[in-house]
Amino acid sequence: MSLTVAIDGPAAAGKGTIARAVAAHFGFAHLDTGLLYRAVGKRTLEGKDALEAAETLQPEHYADAEALRSPDVAQAASVVAAMPEIRTALVNFQRAFARRQGGAVLDGRDIGTVICPDAEAKLFVTASDAVRAERRHKELVGKGHDVSLDEVSADLSERDRRDSARATAPMTAAGDAVQLDTSLMTIEEAVQAAIDTVARAAQKQE
Ligand code: C5P
Repeated sequence: MSLTVAIDGPAAAGKGTIARAVAAHFGFAHLDTGLLYRAVGKRTLEGKDALEAAETLQPEHYADAEALRSPDVAQAASVVAAMPEIRTALVNFQRAFARRQGGAVLDGRDIGTVICPDAEAKLFVTASDAVRAERRHKELVGKGHDVSLDEVSADLSERDRRDSARATAPMTAAGDAVQLDTSLMTIEEAVQAAIDTVARAAQKQE
């Protein structure tokens, strides 16, 4: 089976977990596109020019995902992600990944709308603000970050605001995306709903 799965949505809604599980289930490759923006953001925090950081981005810059998961890198990512020239610099790589043989799952903010508008399966994953903040807080504390629930909540709403309001490729659901609100779902239920959506899209291809 060779098809493209686009999974978009705000931070901490569950799209990363869902994308990894869908990719494993179908044997597809997975790209967390947020890591690309995080890697560029981290390089700007280290003093590099944003465009140069994007144009010279190499796999080793985003290989260590854990090093990119801090709140300050997340904020820097959403700042560089609002710059049109940064997005342009990262388009070709993402589109090439999406077209690879054997199928691909990409998760991000603009996959179903801008990067892969022709993706065979599209999901827009959401959850309430409170549930997202609690999930991300638990995750960060579990990894040893010293952050309060209020700080996490403020980080998420600031990024949501910036990601939705930007002029280029704002975070929004594609018209043909299946909406999945995971607020009241277990991980297993959310993953199963996503797998069912992709399986239906795959059947249509046969
Ligand atoms: O998904 P994640 O929270 O890791 O993304 C970090 C930031 O990267 C987001 O807040 C957003 O600004 C940006 N991003 C984006 N487009 C994508 C993926 C991420 O603008 N496709």
